[in-house]
Amino acid sequence: MKFEIHWWLMSKLFENAVVSIQLGVEDYQANDPRRAISAVRNFYAGVLLLAKEALVRAVPGADLSDLIGAKYKPVPDGQGGIDFVQDGTATIDFVTIGRRFKDFGLSIDQKALEELNRIRNDVEHLFTQKPGEAVREAIANAFPVVVQLFEHMHEAPGDHLGEAWPVMLAAKALYERELKNCRDSLSKVDWISGTIAEKGLICPECESKLVRQLDPDNTQQANMDLSCRACGDEPEVEATIEASLGDALKGEVYFRIKDAGEDGPQYHCTECGNDTYVDFEGACAVCGHEYEEEACYRCGTSIPLHEIIYGEHSGLCDYCGHVYDKLMRE
Ligand SMILES: [Zn+2]
Ligand SMILES: [Zn+2]
Ligand SMILES: [Zn+2]
Repeated sequence: MKFEIHWWLMSKLFENAVVSIQLGVEDYQANDPRRAISAVRNFYAGVLLLAKEALVRAVPGADLSDLIGAKYKPVPDGQGGIDFVQDGTATIDFVTIGRRFKDFGLSIDQKALEELNRIRNDVEHLFTQKPGEAVREAIANAFPVVVQLFEHMHEAPGDHLGEAWPVMLAAKALYERELKNCRDSLSKVDWISGTIAEKGLICPECESKLVRQLDPDNTQQANMDLSCRACGDEPEVEATIEASLGDALKGEVYFRIKDAGEDGPQYHCTECGNDTYVDFEGACAVCGHEYEEEACYRCGTSIPLHEIIYGEHSGLCDYCGHVYDKLMRE
């Protein structure tokens, strides 16, 4: 009996997921700026429902609310032990559902999910000037996730999404073509940073990857005139490189803090004033400044990069700097 109830919930959830995605695609097709926000809201709501459905199908005997609750708290079970119950009514977002997939041993593109969460939370801000391109990018970003979710459910997206599916395929193809045009316009640039050369630029205003330069023959990164196809902004070169590095290196930042308790790899550059110094590249991605290795003239140890950059006494390590300050006060 219990099984049948779940089966009913499951198909309802799946139905709602499909309908939401289809509504989002219809809003996108309307090509009306007033429907841009609802396009993304509907589409992403559908993707999230689809993710929940994939979880439900992985453990069909579980209770749905247990499965998709965001937070749990321990309560006494009345027999001297504890039970875990849902804490509040919040259900999981893209990031937490990504973690749950991992816990369930289901593969999913975590980076794409984080991206979806960012777009979904920032939707009003992102879709103001050129909503068509931005919505297309939002759909293209969700594409690999949708494909993975249908794979987990052993279903074919085309069997369920109807006419929305070819529209999604076309949106993805169009987006990739635009992205290629943008990247091609930057292909002659002589980049200082290998990270930027490899990962490309994002718009500091809306974080779209659809950033191009107006003169595709220009080779000097400092001379680029940039334009964002998604928000219509013409971002400054320095701010664009700073934002692009931050995006490209955020995984490394997290890894260093979590696994090694270390800072970096992106530091402030005292030469140009941007947070664009990359330690493993040994240079600032904006101005090319390189910090020389320095030994502390008091104790002789080599001074760590962050102490060279942020330290108050040049030539001294932080420790010897403190000793020096103390001596001066006495
Ligand atoms: Zn932009
Ligand atoms: Zn610099
Ligand atoms: Zn020292």
